[in-house]
Amino acid sequence: MVVVIGGGASGLGVAWDLLLRGIPTTVVEQGDVGGGTSGRFHGLLHSGARYVVVDPVSARHCIAENAILRVIAAAAIKAVPSYFVSVDDDGDRYLSPWLDGMNAAGIGVREVPLGQVISAIPDLNRQARRAFSVPDAVLEGFTLLRLLRDNITQRGGTVLTHSQVTQVHQVGGVVSGVTVSSRGAERLIVCDAVVNAAGPGAGQIVPMFGDQIEMQLSAGMMLVFANRRVGHIVNRLGPPGDGDILVPHGRTAILGTTDIPHGSPQPPVLQRQEAVYLLEQGERLFPGIASWRALRAFSGVRPLFSTDSNEGASVRRRIVTRDFTVLDHGMRGGVKGAFTIIGGKWTTYRLMAERTVDAVCRHLDSWVPSRTAVTPLTEASSQGDPVGAIVCECEGVTLDTLHALNGDMDTWRTRAWFAMGPCQGAICLHRGAAIRQSIVGVQAAMQEFLALRRERWRGVEPVAWGDNAREWALTEALRHQTLAEEGMNGR
Ligand SMILES: Cc1cc2nc3c(=O)[nH]c(=O)nc-3n(C[C@H](O)[C@H](O)[C@H](O)COP(=O)(O)OP(=O)(O)OC[C@H]3O[C@@H](n4cnc5c(N)ncnc54)[C@H](O)[C@@H]3O)c2cc1C
Repeated sequence: MVVVIGGGASGLGVAWDLLLRGIPTTVVEQGDVGGGTSGRFHGLLHSGARYVVVDPVSARHCIAENAILRVIAAAAIKAVPSYFVSVDDDGDRYLSPWLDGMNAAGIGVREVPLGQVISAIPDLNRQARRAFSVPDAVLEGFTLLRLLRDNITQRGGTVLTHSQVTQVHQVGGVVSGVTVSSRGAERLIVCDAVVNAAGPGAGQIVPMFGDQIEMQLSAGMMLVFANRRVGHIVNRLGPPGDGDILVPHGRTAILGTTDIPHGSPQPPVLQRQEAVYLLEQGERLFPGIASWRALRAFSGVRPLFSTDSNEGASVRRRIVTRDFTVLDHGMRGGVKGAFTIIGGKWTTYRLMAERTVDAVCRHLDSWVPSRTAVTPLTEASSQGDPVGAIVCECEGVTLDTLHALNGDMDTWRTRAWFAMGPCQGAICLHRGAAIRQSIVGVQAAMQEFLALRRERWRGVEPVAWGDNAREWALTEALRHQTLAEEGMNGR
């Protein structure tokens, strides 16, 4: 038995790889699946084009995994045209090393006539100089997490959510079990190895393995626009910077990101000035983007390792690889049978898992090759057409879908996209609360309602200006006057 700490891309990837090699596994996640960085990222299946100059190893991993994921996780990958566009001198200067890097990494690139790109993307900067097509795609993180979780449970694995690993036990310097705390109760899980896949929280787990590591966390903000004004992925050609990628997602588009050193695994409080700065950077690709309707902001924390501690500099400006590292703590003088997987990208989660489980197999002295690259993740059951009464109009979420999920309102959000559309829950949250009260009672339903409402508001507040602010104020007034609800933040 191997216990995996963390129910993000890395943890579920490790669990799936273990199970395919015949090793029983339990994933322990302190929140819900995808509650960490894996549910707070930009949604790009990297081709590696972004990294060919600054991080060629990571670029090669990305292009290899990009090809694999399109086959084994097809339901979670959306192929859309993707361009790198040069809009200024930065782009022109970067072009030659970039093309050399693309060539060296084996990433297909093709120049596209500018007129063709501008007519396909009318909002693009008319001063654009050159455009190149690359094999980036959209990665639907929550869909892939759902596929992984379903396949893990079908294979006999266990995913414990709202459960935290609080202690690691050892006998004679070798892992023997973990204590898991869940809703006030504690239990012991006996195991032969533990994998720390806690993402930005990995540094807090390592001392339980009798070891220490230093992580370089950095937070990145992204802005969600209400309309899919651009149906293409557009990258600004130049050294990786802020606000230089727009990714279409369902009916929305997401601009990202920033890169700010951050001291905690928890995402920072969203700041309005950061949202404004992001829009200013986005103007270089899309003049007028500041007037598009921004729906909300969100941010995630990058779980990276630094090779150079240049205090205060952003991670992009330090020498921080987007590559990943597998730590065998037994080999570092800590507890044997304890491993950490750290760094990397969503795009490379499968490879990261494979390398981690290779190390676990060596420890268990039972070598079985990985099969994740050739084993498609199957849908648990046909999703079919949604039927039944619609509860969330923006995203077309039906009552039957919500009942089938058998979870709380936040689970509805992450698994069915409930309350994620343009109204940000203004209407459907009330319907949701009414449904939940018949299942869990009034008090618990109200708590879920308020928690989700606060979560939505946190993201809306930093971009609440102009019409957005007016719309939100109207919604608040209606709630206050017709439902006698308190305003957010006591207002
Ligand atoms: C702003 C931003 C944009 C990004 N954009 C992209 C992109 O477009 N494409 C791409 O490929 N990658 C992108 N990434 C990188 C990618 O999102 C991350 O590399 C990846 O999601 C990390 O996954 P993970 O499973 O390692 O960590 P996480 O998803 O954070 O999972 C770790 C989990 O461990 C849990 N945990 C922690 N401690 C405990 C404990 N004691 N017990 C139980 N559970 C615990 C946490 O709750 C969490 O759910 C982006 C990252 C950021 C920050």
